[in-house]
Amino acid sequence: MKKNVVLLSLVAALGLTACDKPETQATSSAAATPDKVYKVGVDNTYPPFEFTKDGQLVGIDVDLINAIAKDQGFKINIEQMDFSGIIPAMQAGMLDVGMGGMSITDKRKETVDFSEPYFAAGVSLVVANDNKNIASLDDLSGKKVVVKNGTVGASFADKNTEEYGYSIIQVSDSASMFQEVTNGTADALMEDYPVISYAIATGGLKLQTVGERLTGDNYGISVLKDKNDELLKMINDGLANLKENGEYDKIIDAYLD
Ligand code: GLN
Repeated sequence: MKKNVVLLSLVAALGLTACDKPETQATSSAAATPDKVYKVGVDNTYPPFEFTKDGQLVGIDVDLINAIAKDQGFKINIEQMDFSGIIPAMQAGMLDVGMGGMSITDKRKETVDFSEPYFAAGVSLVVANDNKNIASLDDLSGKKVVVKNGTVGASFADKNTEEYGYSIIQVSDSASMFQEVTNGTADALMEDYPVISYAIATGGLKLQTVGERLTGDNYGISVLKDKNDELLKMINDGLANLKENGEYDKIIDAYLD
């Protein structure tokens, strides 16, 4: 205690003599307890959840986390990266929050805690829009299926490769996955239906979804497991407030009809 007092007066004395601008001192004492800026990782590009429009990062995830942070009074900094890198970056202490249309799965729950669900999704099988031979998983024998690393679609594809007899091509982002099918390198892809529907509707992609939905899951906002209870509570409280006050609906409606 005594030591602290001495240290404080020493700092004050140094500040007074070494600093000719009093305002500078006021700023630096505020900076001694800086507000934490939480680092949020999102996918590179995953419209309508995160994408760049007119040079700005926008999307449902982006608007939602900004609104939650505002509601709860914390600061964030959003970083884009390969989706498969988000949880590893959290584990390495480089991110506090993971988003990116991230589905809540039991496997991920081994390393992260999820917020309450904020969006219902699920994986669809997708082929070229002029493809008349593939109508479901049963038609994939001997075909090439492209998936995106680290996704629910990729693990679904992995689990079912023997049963349906297709081979797998892995890429790291959705745009490449779409391209592999439109240019004929792959026969089919697996992507979350809200994302592929949005891409087909807005990007004029020559793709179509076929068959039954392959999985049903929900998106959640993730934090590193057991280490961020306070942050997770703020996220859940903020999300509940936005649902309550209509802002959540406004954000969704801004991107989806
Ligand atoms: N929802 C899927 C998952 O969590 C895909 C996410 C993504 O590609 N950004 O694995």
